[in-house]
Amino acid sequence: MTSGLWNNSEVPREDWRCMEVADLRDKQGAPPEILCEMCGSARIRFIHVMEHDNFDETLGVCMDCAGKMTGDTVSPARIEKEVRRKSNARDNWLAGHWYLSARENWVTQVGGVNMGVFPVKFQNGLWSCRIENKFFKGMYPSAEEAKYALFEEFWKTLRR
Ligand SMILES: [Zn+2]
Repeated sequence: MTSGLWNNSEVPREDWRCMEVADLRDKQGAPPEILCEMCGSARIRFIHVMEHDNFDETLGVCMDCAGKMTGDTVSPARIEKEVRRKSNARDNWLAGHWYLSARENWVTQVGGVNMGVFPVKFQNGLWSCRIENKFFKGMYPSAEEAKYALFEEFWKTLRR
């Protein structure tokens, strides 16, 4: 027996759609893993966010449950693999060589591309990011969050 929603007769068992697959570690402060809401037993870092026309809430579930809920056992694995690949690339990038420049920017260099995060002038405590001389508009409450945003931009340039 499990405590998951598969046993709850008010929860539809099929015809769900996957809205996204998200890495819980994308967000600072999120728990590194949660239990799948559907089976109640799988510990998941990559959460499949499911929606249903006849159910008010979205559910965060594991890859296997996502397959059962959509009737598609191929796509959940394929999408999760893609998200995992990006997360691994990000984690390696975060763990790479960063140095604090004279102007107190955190800077890294990958494949000849210089990029960094820096405190926003006149906005105490906020951080922003740049790739070479391209400055991005976003402002973030910590250097760490600015790095996550920077990676999103860097990832786009890599995949062009
Ligand atoms: Zn599950």
